[in-house]
Amino acid sequence: MAAKWLPVIDEERCNGCRACVDACGPKSLEMVNNLAVLVRPDTCGSEEHCIAPCQYDAIHMAWVESDGNQQRGRWRT
Ligand code: SF4
Repeated sequence: MAAKWLPVIDEERCNGCRACVDACGPKSLEMVNNLAVLVRPDTCGSEEHCIAPCQYDAIHMAWVESDGNQQRGRWRT
């Protein structure tokens, strides 16, 4: 299992504004059912461009399994 510095979305705080999706150059994030989801962790450059645009404190960086379960918009460890 590989670990990587990746954005983790708090599904309770995310309101679906998609600011993080628009801020991501490599398009690693997408909206799924009005929730930001890291759909392509392999393309994420760990540059954190998605963090500052979030006005809801819903997205944070963490060392997580890069090939983990992405259910419900977050990477579970
Ligand atoms: S910027 Fe924050 S609130 Fe908006 S979609 Fe992304 S995680 Fe959700």
